[in-house]
Amino acid sequence: MKQQEIMLNTLIDDHILNGFSEKEIGDDHLFSGLETPMKLNAHELSDEEKKEKISGLFAQIMDVMGLDLTNDSLKGTPNRVAKMYIDEIFSGLNPANKPKISLFDNSYKYNQMLVEKNITFYSNCEHHFVPIIGKAHVAYVSSGKVIGISKINRIVQYYAKRPQVQERLTNQIAIELKSILNTEDIAVIIDAKHLCVSSRGIKDDTSATVTSYYSGVFNQPHKIIELQNYLNQ
Ligand SMILES: [Zn+2]
Repeated sequence: MKQQEIMLNTLIDDHILNGFSEKEIGDDHLFSGLETPMKLNAHELSDEEKKEKISGLFAQIMDVMGLDLTNDSLKGTPNRVAKMYIDEIFSGLNPANKPKISLFDNSYKYNQMLVEKNITFYSNCEHHFVPIIGKAHVAYVSSGKVIGISKINRIVQYYAKRPQVQERLTNQIAIELKSILNTEDIAVIIDAKHLCVSSRGIKDDTSATVTSYYSGVFNQPHKIIELQNYLNQ
């Protein structure tokens, strides 16, 4: 285990992180392999302050690359990029944007798996900041409560809108749903293309990456086969 992880696990055990209680930091902000690594003061600046800073810094990157920022086509780019980062493609870094989820009683007594498949998402690889484009398939078995189907999509989108690695994205969606639905019976499968693999580097345009998270009943081979049959329909 890396030194940093040992330290952070110890801190988490003590429920204190650099002087902040777990409650103050919030459930989106714990340091472990599951959590997106963020600074303790990640939410000190307002969104507007962040956009202003990013705009200035992105203008510097463009300037260093020799681009003429007085050009009509380019001069608005730093602002556009800053707004896109904060309001859109990285909006999932702000816990204030976490979808509000309401649960309903399972009044139909439906006790088989529910599968929400082919949820299209756009994320970004945290190593290159270029898109990851994919589909998420989510399944759960109700433990008494059910969730509005569109909320499953919203949870996928919330975690996708962060700099990501696909393994973490898969686990974050699964753990969030487990916690919301109070069930172990969750499966998440993600099938995605990474533009850092296709548009640069090895330039492989045909490969895709598949990750999965199976827990509870989804560890049983016949349930995995049933799920895979639905996904293949
Ligand atoms: Zn990458």
